[in-house]
Formats: sequence, C-alpha cells, structure tokens
Amino acid sequence: MSAVPEAPRAASSEEQVLVAEGLAKHYAVRRGFMGHGVVKALNGVSFSLARGRTLAVVGESGCGKSTLARQLTMIESPSSGRLVIEGQAVTGADRAKLAGLRRRVQMVFQNPFASLNPRKTVEATLNEPLVINTPMSAAERAERIAQTMRTVGLRPEHAKRYPHMFSGGQRQRIAIARAMMLDPRIVVADEPVSALDVSIQAQILNLFMDLQDQFKTSYVFISHNLSVVEHIADEVMVMYFGGVAELGDKKTIFANPRHPYTRALMSATPAIFESDRRVRIKLQGELPSPLDPPSGCAFHQRCPYAIERCRIEAPALREVDARQVACHRAEEVGEVNA
Ligand code: SF4
Repeated sequence: MSAVPEAPRAASSEEQVLVAEGLAKHYAVRRGFMGHGVVKALNGVSFSLARGRTLAVVGESGCGKSTLARQLTMIESPSSGRLVIEGQAVTGADRAKLAGLRRRVQMVFQNPFASLNPRKTVEATLNEPLVINTPMSAAERAERIAQTMRTVGLRPEHAKRYPHMFSGGQRQRIAIARAMMLDPRIVVADEPVSALDVSIQAQILNLFMDLQDQFKTSYVFISHNLSVVEHIADEVMVMYFGGVAELGDKKTIFANPRHPYTRALMSATPAIFESDRRVRIKLQGELPSPLDPPSGCAFHQRCPYAIERCRIEAPALREVDARQVACHRAEEVGEVNA
C-alpha cells in the first residue's frame, strides 16, 4: 500500500510514531440553574507508541478511553498537553499540516453497522478517501480498491455491493479496508470486535495482526476485554477515571498486575488467572461521578487496599517493577498472594 503520496515526514530515529504528553480534555457543563462545572474526561495522560506495535487501552466505560481516541484522531483538540505524530507536533499545527497528520491516523469503530454508510457501495466507501486526499486517477483508485479488498479478505468482485449484503465480520473488514486506504501509520481501533460473534472475533483480530506484520502499522487498541488484549497487545495502558492506573509491557502487567484496579479487571477474566493463586478482587460499585470527583486516589472508594493516605493524596504515576503504576501500595499489591 504505497501508491498514496506521503505528507512530509520529520526525520526520526527509530521510531516513536505517537507521543502523548500530559493529554487532558476538560468539558464545561451546566449544573442546575446557575452553576457550571468542569468534567475532566481525560486528565494528563502520557505514553508513546512505536512503529508496528500495539498499545491496548483498557478500562470500564467512562474511564476516558473514547475521549482519548478523539484526541488521538484529532477529532477534538486537547485542553492541554501535547500530541506528537511521527515527530510533528499536532498542537499549533496549521490546517495544511493538520490535514496531513490526520491522514496518518485512521479509526476503526466498534459497530460496522453504524460506521458504514448503508447507501454507499463498498467501492464508493473505499473510493472516497482516495478522491479527497490523493491525485490518483480513476484507474489507479480502482486498482487500489481491489488490492485493499483482497488484503483484508474481501472479494473485489463484491465491490458494487452494499453493506447490508455482508455479514458483520465482512462489514468490519470493509471498515478496516477504509481505514487502510491511505496507508496510515496509526490505527485507533475502538472496541473493534466487541460487536461481533465470538467465532468471528478471532478472525478479525488475526486480520489486524496480519496487516500489522505487512505494513508495520501501529495500533491503539481500545478494549474492555482482557482476553482480546492479551491476544493482540504489546503494551497495555489501564485507565481509570480519566487517568493512567498502570502502563507497561503486556507480559509484565499480565504476569503480576501492581494496581488493584488492574487486578480487579483481570479477576473478571477467569482464564487469565485459572492456574494462578493470586488474590482475586471483585470490583464493586461504579465509577465516581466526574461532576463530583473523589479526593485523593480516584479509586479509593472501590479499592480493598485503600488506607487513609489514599483518601487524601492522589498517587503519582511512578515506576515499580518495570512498569508505571499510580498506587501508593503498588509494591505490596503485587506481592499479596492467596
Ligand atoms: Fe487503592 Fe490506595 Fe492504591 Fe488507590 S492508591 S489504588 S486507593 S491502594
């Protein structure tokens, strides 16, 4: 997939394609008749993503995953913080530069039924980004569409069909093909298999991995399903209440999670701990209201490890046992066994 003209790229050594530094997104909201409040949907998130790697972003609904996706895909601008794509800062970029950067980051959504236009054939859906973003001729675009359909496991002779004529898995293949049309460096995939039958999920995950092998695409893969994450991720970022709870190499985190929230999420995925004797934490209660954030650690009202300090002092993200973790008791949490 190299026929698409490239936007100029900053020279870089190997090879962080995406760097987020303190990304925050705050929304002003109305409270009652006169009042106003601020919802901190994303609260200072930092990470980097190397070429050809997959960062899985994990957490409950409302933890800030989708807000993060909107910042990374430049659908929204962060309230503060810095986003750098292939060495080029997004913040402060002019329109032309932003357009070039946007091409490099594509998105795959959860529900291919909703994300594809039912009135457009596959051909029209895949043609659109090429018409808008490239000077390719009609013949070149047709060749490119056929090539991409083959690459994602669709038959080019089905290009004149409409989305409703395909199965759910095939529709997600169309959505993935659309994301790949402009040869992106980064694909942000927001729960891309959770609307599919379990029998189809593995096929789509394998397609993501095949495409990554072939094109060295980097993925930010948002999922609440830790079995999926274990299958596809290189690094894992666990988010809670708009912030990072734990961030590091997948094997390190899965082998011995150091944040009580990570352990609780893993407890809900029995296969992960089947042969394991570590403490299982049942996650109770809901995420706190963003309009009424708790003091101290945002997790303290649900955390079985909470101590008085947790109610007063928010834990900073710090290095413990080869990963970043935001917990006052991270050293103890990872050592407690049943
Ligand atoms: Fe639990 Fe305290 Fe750690 Fe927060 S800082 S996760 S409340 S032990």
